[in-house]
This record gives sequence, structure tokens and C-alpha cells, in this order.
Amino acid sequence: MVPTPITVRVPAKVNLHLSVGDARPDGYHELVTVFQALSLTDDVTVLAADEPGIEVKGEGADSVPTGSENLAWKAVRLLAEHCGRDPENPGLRISINKGIPVAGGMAGGSADAAATLQAVNHLWRLELGRDELSELAAKIGSDVPFSLQGGTALGTGRGERLVPVLARHTFHWVIALDKEGLSTPGVYGELDRLRAENGNGRIGEVEPLLEALASGDPRQLALLLGNDLQSAAVSLRPGLRRTLRAGVQAGALAGIVSGSGPTCAFLCTDADEAVRVAAELSGAGVCRTVRVAHGPVPGAKVVSEEPAN
Ligand code: ATP
Repeated sequence: MVPTPITVRVPAKVNLHLSVGDARPDGYHELVTVFQALSLTDDVTVLAADEPGIEVKGEGADSVPTGSENLAWKAVRLLAEHCGRDPENPGLRISINKGIPVAGGMAGGSADAAATLQAVNHLWRLELGRDELSELAAKIGSDVPFSLQGGTALGTGRGERLVPVLARHTFHWVIALDKEGLSTPGVYGELDRLRAENGNGRIGEVEPLLEALASGDPRQLALLLGNDLQSAAVSLRPGLRRTLRAGVQAGALAGIVSGSGPTCAFLCTDADEAVRVAAELSGAGVCRTVRVAHGPVPGAKVVSEEPAN
């Protein structure tokens, strides 16, 4: 019997705190970060098929690779190797419906890899547990374990070593998408260049932000959002300064570049205020499009055993 297709929904992430250490000998930077999973999602459907392949639709689909460079495909190969199937011919088709901006600093590719791990685990009835999936996830990329886990979490190392963080209440966000993406390695390179030139302007310790999350007070949290990559993203994309200013002028408590950018995330007092800020920001002409989101939400999760349409 042909197994039923599996669809997994997976969230985007925003880094509420992203402290970047010096570059390590292996080229990676040591990070201390707090991730929050947001209600901006991709749906990934995996089905058994003689003709393998990937199709991508939705937000920014044209710029997503459909070959072996797609992180979803890396997840399939890794899982096939792990369970003794042929990684060259896994007999699967993957269909990705993107809601997460591509190259937007919201871990869209990592999210698809996490969703694929979860979906194939179900489709092939592998019954791999959370720890085993998480270990495989870390081999694909630093953000993939968080995309599996979701919620709010403290990440260290390259961001792949995770501890869940208590976040009381739901936080409300406005997300401003830019016209074009930014390359993550390019932004880290710019940070190294700026630091060599101007010394180290770094954000503070993470503990006060963890306390603000536990209190659930968005006003307190807004004062503590910080991202060491923001100056580098703004240096490469100076227009982001205007976007960040416009969000606060529209009534957001604070704005931050998400990860390596160029997406900006604005924290608002509540859901109604987020809708109001989004409307005003979208009229300001400082970004391509605006979305409202909330967090924390769960990580990669099976939502149906039917293909998404
Ligand atoms: P991060 O926040 O993890 O640094 P990002 O959100 O900035 O990543 P992605 O959306 O993951 O960026 O895309 C980065 C690049 O990865 C894209 O330019 C694209 O070429 C490639 N890529 C590979 N697989 C995918 C995928 N499934 N979805 C989107 N991009 C993908």
C-alpha cells in the first residue's frame, strides 16, 4: 500500500537576543542567542513517488533551489543514510509552500529541513525520538534543531545547543519583509570587517532578557532586544535604518533586524496594536510587504496526512 502523504507545518524564528563572539578557527562564530518561533510558517508535504524531486511555491519561491542544494533534500539524504536506505534514490517527492521569507534572516531553509526530517520520520515510520532527530538536524545547519523544537529557547555554540526558556504570555509582532534577501555569510563577514575597523560594540548579557520573557511584559522585553548582526545588516542595506525608524514611529515598542536580516521584526503591546502598526507601516513604503505574527508557537508539527493544496 502506498503511504499517505504527510504535511508538516514549521515556524520561522526571530532572534530576540543574538550575541556574536569572535570567529572560531573553523570559521563559525560562538553565539549566545534566544530564539522565538513565530506564526509565519512553511508547509512541507512529503510523498512516496517513483520520480523524486522538489517543487516550491509561495513567498519567494523563484529564488529557492529545487535540486540537491535545497536543505529539505539534504534532510532526506541524511535520514536515508541514517536508516540504511539509498540516499540517491529515496523514492520521495517534496512540495514546499513558503510563507517564510527566503534569505530573510528567519531560518526559512532550516525550517524546511526540520519539517522534512519530521515528515519523512512519519512517512517511513522510523519512530526516531526528539534527541535523535535533533542530532541529525544539527548536522544540516545550526538553526535546524530550533526549527524542530520551536517555542522560545536559549541557543549556544553555533546556536544548535538548545535549552527551552520560559516565556509567559504570547508576544505580538509585525514583520517587515524586504525586496531582496541578504546572504548570511556576507553579513557575518561585514560584522568581522566592522569590528576590525571600529572595535567591538556588543550587546549586553542575556539574563535580563530571560527575566523579561518570564515576566511576560512586552514593554520590558522591548528594552532588551539586541542583535550584534544588526549593524552589519544595516551597513550592507542602509535602507533598513528607515524601516526600523518607521516601525517605531507607527507605534511599535521596538524594532530589530531578524538574525542576519534584512527582515525587521517589531514588538507590539498586543494583537490589536500589531494590526494597527502593520497597516501604518505598510503605507509608509519602507518595505516590500508586512505581516502580523505571534510567538512562541510550536516547532515542526504534522498537520495533515493529506497533501497541502
Ligand atoms: P538563516 O536565518 O538561517 O541564516 P535565512 O532565513 O536568511 O537563513 P534562507 O531562507 O534559509 O535564509 O535562505 C538562504 C539561502 O538558502 C537561499 O538563498 C537559498 O538559496 C538557500 N536554500 C536552500 N534550501 C532552501 C529552502 N528550502 N528554502 C529557502 N531557501 C533555501
